[in-house]
Amino acid sequence: MFRQQHLVKGGLGGSSDWGIPFLSSLSDSSNSSDSSGSVLVKTNKGDFTADAAIVTLPLGVLKSGTVKFSPALSEEKQAAIARLDMGVLNKVVLKFPKVFWPENREVFGYVSENQQDFTDFFSMTPYTEAPILIAFTGGSFARSLENLSSEEIVEKAMAVLRRAYGNGIPEPVGVARTRWNADPFSFGSYSYIPVGATTGDRKVLAEPAGSNLFFAGEATSAKYPSTVHGAFLSGIRESDRIKNNF
Ligand SMILES: Cc1cc2nc3c(=O)[nH]c(=O)nc-3n(C[C@H](O)[C@H](O)[C@H](O)COP(=O)(O)OP(=O)(O)OC[C@H]3O[C@@H](n4cnc5c(N)ncnc54)[C@H](O)[C@@H]3O)c2cc1C
Repeated sequence: MFRQQHLVKGGLGGSSDWGIPFLSSLSDSSNSSDSSGSVLVKTNKGDFTADAAIVTLPLGVLKSGTVKFSPALSEEKQAAIARLDMGVLNKVVLKFPKVFWPENREVFGYVSENQQDFTDFFSMTPYTEAPILIAFTGGSFARSLENLSSEEIVEKAMAVLRRAYGNGIPEPVGVARTRWNADPFSFGSYSYIPVGATTGDRKVLAEPAGSNLFFAGEATSAKYPSTVHGAFLSGIRESDRIKNNF
């Protein structure tokens, strides 16, 4: 089903762009094993009541505690949330007046002695026919870049590109950058298993809380974590669970 790489046209977007309510708390009125209770979802745009809810908040948001659960999530689930962690992968998109790298090349790397250097560049030219490069950064370097201005980041990326392609390359005419670690809708890019956590923690995270509150999202996927398809399949998993429970 998912054997090839695909670019999502227009990107995945985000609830902040779509004007979706910002969720602040979830209360599950049921405390027994039947499904007769309801879930109250409080947001900045009003309250919503439903027979059941699927929580797809990113692990980073669950870890931050910005969304309150009532009753509190089980100690086991809280411990799994604490053990799992969010990694950071950021992108810096650079638009140039012309292509100066090999036009048919999709990816190129720069092997640097300095760990605080850009190393991976993806060309969007094959997909967009525009002279656009995306520089990828991960881990502590990506985190540290979030504190820099766009001008400072461009200068760092350009220093590497000049070393690779010479001083004659043009300056970018446009720049866009992500700050996934600071983003209050994600607090990180996607989940990973640090030392001390296990895949079992993902399974605990995927367990329902009570009989009306269900959990999906990439961090709950034991088989395809950290991916779009893992998140997608986890939604199907939980809708099946609701179908069987109600
Ligand atoms: C830079 C980068 C590159 C990636 N590349 C790939 C790739 O090549 N292939 C791949 O398969 N995966 C990739 N991923 C991972 C993939 O994007 C995620 O695994 C996937 O989007 C997770 O889906 P999700 O539904 O679990 O969470 P999300 O897509 O994060 O959805 C959670 C939603 O909850 C919303 N939300 C958060 N807090 C609140 C709140 N309080 N109230 C209301 N809404 C809230 C968020 O805005 C968001 O819309 C990449 C991720 C990043 C950051």
